[in-house]
Amino acid sequence: MLPIRLRLTLSYGGLLFLALALSGTAVVTLLRQRLTARLDAALDDRLRGVETFLIHETTPATADLIPKELAEYALTQPEGQLIDVRDSHGRVLLQGDAIPSPARARHRSFALYGENYQTKAAASEEPIAESVEEIRFLLVWSSPVLLLFIGLTGYWISSRSLRPVDEMTRVARSIGALDLSSRLPVPPARDEISRLAEAWNEMLERLDESFTRMQRFTADAAHELRTPLASLRTTAQLALRRPREAQEYREALEQVVTISERMNQLAESLLAIARGEHPCPPQVFTRVELASLVRGISAELQPLFAERNLELQVDVPAGPAYFDADADGLRRLLVVLLDNALKYTQADGKVTVVLQESSDGYSVAVSDTGPGIPHDALSRIFDRFFRVDPSRDRQTGGHGLGLAIARQIARAHHGQLEASSVVGEGSTFRLSLPKAADGVW
Ligand code: ADP
Repeated sequence: MLPIRLRLTLSYGGLLFLALALSGTAVVTLLRQRLTARLDAALDDRLRGVETFLIHETTPATADLIPKELAEYALTQPEGQLIDVRDSHGRVLLQGDAIPSPARARHRSFALYGENYQTKAAASEEPIAESVEEIRFLLVWSSPVLLLFIGLTGYWISSRSLRPVDEMTRVARSIGALDLSSRLPVPPARDEISRLAEAWNEMLERLDESFTRMQRFTADAAHELRTPLASLRTTAQLALRRPREAQEYREALEQVVTISERMNQLAESLLAIARGEHPCPPQVFTRVELASLVRGISAELQPLFAERNLELQVDVPAGPAYFDADADGLRRLLVVLLDNALKYTQADGKVTVVLQESSDGYSVAVSDTGPGIPHDALSRIFDRFFRVDPSRDRQTGGHGLGLAIARQIARAHHGQLEASSVVGEGSTFRLSLPKAADGVW
């Protein structure tokens, strides 16, 4: 395939050639027509001149002097020799000179004093042919020069405008998968090419961000796994160091089970996060009745709250609250919020779940009377692996992934999950689910 700049030049050159050929032919044809028409008009004038002359200069009495008068008239006319006049009997009254061909002739007949006269004026077409030939010569020889000039200029212009593309290609080739920090040069002119470069840079930015996020996530996940793995190994190594009683082995194995369960939970959360990167597409959302979903989950978790002596209060509208959603996702999200409220609220506390419908959607708020979240930590609790107080939270079994998963799910529903809290009084997590404007996401 030819390079774009050459293809552009060739196609414009071809079009220009066609345009020149068509306009050249039109000019030549038109010129020939106009010149011939003008010659005809001049010949007609001449013939009318002869008629007018005879009408004015002769009378019925002097009719037989007509040949003489005509000869005199011819003498006064510069081109007089070119006119023939005959009477109705075919007698020649005035004989014009012979004209070399190509010649053009016009005829006219008129009656005078009972006699019919035939006149004929002729002129050479040679000057017309010469003028047309000159123009044709000019067009035929100037066209290739014009074509060459415009072709070269066109090639130069397209090369110049495509130069940034070469530069972008060079830089794009040098961007490796592991180094997404380079950006394409954006040409200063605000045109298609600079927009293309900007679009590429935005895409690189997004790739870079998600790549960095992935790297950090992998590093954090590995870090999280290292601690329980180390405890597993140490527990086993200690137990194996010397022969022990059955009871001691039993305790060691129980600890192994506890640690493995924790690791299992972590693996589950990591899986949920990975799945959240590709959330359930809106087309497969199903109709979910939020009031019964909230009531159902609360009922399932109620025994755990009772066990910790916590009051769980559920406040949902009486009527049905339909919403198109990924039902499993929403359930997981609500479990994270209720589980946190359960984990972080001291005994005798109170947890409230409120479902409300508004004109533009639904909101579910989970409030507790727990320790609250310090202001500076509030914006980070949705980050993966973030825990307000790692030492305290370690005992409660969290990995700092629950809220990250919950927010991911909220976003997959075009919704929002936000937290507000007063230290010492409690926290509220509010999920807002907007209704789609047209009922379809
Ligand atoms: P975890 O598994 O540690 O609970 P989350 O992502 O669910 O992870 O929560 C992140 C951190 O936010 C928790 O470690 C905890 O410090 C804080 N947090 C979450 N919910 C509450 C709450 N209801 N009250 C107080 N602190 C909370």
